[in-house]
Amino acid sequence: MSTAAAKPHATASRYEAVIGLEVHCQLRTATKIFCACRNRFGDAPNTHVCPVCLGLPGALPVLNRQAVDLALRAALATHCTVHAVSVFARKNYFYPDLPKGYQISQYDRPLATEGHVEISAGAGIRRVRLHRIHMEEDAGKLLHEGFPWSSEKSGVDFNRSGVPLIEIVSYPDLHGSEEAHEYLSALKAVLLYAGVSDGNMEEGSLRCDANVSLRPRGREALGTRAEIKNLNSFRNVARAIDHEIARQAALLDAGGTVVQETRLWNADRGETVSMRSKEEAHDYRYFPEPDLPPLVVGPAWIADVEAALPELPAARRLRFASEYGIPDYDAGVLTLSREVADYFETVARESGNPKAASNWVMTEVLRKLKDSAEEGPVVANCPVRPSGLAELIRLIDAGTISGKIAKDVFERMWASGEDARVIVEREGLTQVSDQGPIQAAIDEVIAGNPGQVATYRKGKTSTLGWFVGQVMRKTGGKANPQLVNELLKRALSG
Ligand code: ADP
Ligand code: MG
Ligand code: ZN
Repeated sequence: MSTAAAKPHATASRYEAVIGLEVHCQLRTATKIFCACRNRFGDAPNTHVCPVCLGLPGALPVLNRQAVDLALRAALATHCTVHAVSVFARKNYFYPDLPKGYQISQYDRPLATEGHVEISAGAGIRRVRLHRIHMEEDAGKLLHEGFPWSSEKSGVDFNRSGVPLIEIVSYPDLHGSEEAHEYLSALKAVLLYAGVSDGNMEEGSLRCDANVSLRPRGREALGTRAEIKNLNSFRNVARAIDHEIARQAALLDAGGTVVQETRLWNADRGETVSMRSKEEAHDYRYFPEPDLPPLVVGPAWIADVEAALPELPAARRLRFASEYGIPDYDAGVLTLSREVADYFETVARESGNPKAASNWVMTEVLRKLKDSAEEGPVVANCPVRPSGLAELIRLIDAGTISGKIAKDVFERMWASGEDARVIVEREGLTQVSDQGPIQAAIDEVIAGNPGQVATYRKGKTSTLGWFVGQVMRKTGGKANPQLVNELLKRALSG
């Protein structure tokens, strides 16, 4: 950690951080953007390659319609204006993962511009504006480690070369690492809902560069920015931004200036290091791609894509809050992923108790799923099916088991995958609502604690909870707590 990072509070008051994110998202197509090779992660290197994606001379690109479909979904789901005509361009640079010597991208005529993503801000919702979304091809991947020859040389895997990407460029509307994290979560949710991407940052299907600058509080003009690359998880995006804010603040405080440059995040050392001075657009010698015609997207195509979009997270969040009467915050958490939202909604409907459904999913289900996942809950890993949780809630609401016992039953359902009813019957966990045994337990507790009883009777009725606890213990947690309360009050005041 640099010493600069040790004083973020002083910094926070003097400067305002300004952040814009560039997110690259791989599209979930069957094949690559300009050839028929498979678009699939994780296979042996160079098994999905052809003359087009290897950049062999004379090979010609043909645009994949499904890639355009998915890019349009992303554009419409983020409320962008889609342009009837967009143009592919060559972005020229040399790097060993780029066999053609140029990347086919879009430059001055992108697919879509001027949209927004809704993020939660305090109790409400705020819009982060998008500048543009354009289509491009991914580059190959350099292999620096993990092979017998890795100490002598690096390899190149071209399976990723030509995988379809969209780049989503935000306006510099974000002002801290938390907001950046909010934005990324919201954007990822939209992309997942719309079926554009699998959102897997570890596998590189979502990649993010962060542009960070500072300005004195109250000043309108933007400061000079650094662009940070190599951010491979939400957590690292947040850490890198915090570090970069502290670094720039220390620099400015010491009378220095921020230089516009590209910096690399080193997750192991927790710092950014200078990589190169920032390239300018003219360095890339952009020109229109002569091998591809302009992309024309007519109103009918847009209407088709629009009609096929599912309900998106922001709309679903509002509906959850109004239809199920749950707090907006809860609705926000429950709609971050489509699978979690579907899970909750099934539990809510089948149990007939949306508030309990929300509580169970928010506290128990998400907690247990998060224990096992860095990037967020994976509902497919959930051993308790929504209808199983709904049954558990119905057992509580019918008075068959107590809420306390239900937590144990849930743990067992999680461990064994068994139904709630099966566990309750086998373990004899049915709630005791007969007065007889409860009254017997109460009598025992009262007889065994004369001192506490006297204190209560002198007016310290706040000790009632303690008595309830004693009775519950004697009944193995199975007594109906409402009945225990009633009978206890009667016994203690008598
Ligand atoms: P590029 O990085 O390709 O040169 P852009 O000018 O399009 O190009 O900016 C990229 C990103 O940097 C955008 O997300 C934008 O919001 C952000 N950005 C631009 N200027 C600043 C700034 N002064 N501070 C922070 N972010 C900025
Ligand atoms: Mg950039
Ligand atoms: Zn190919």
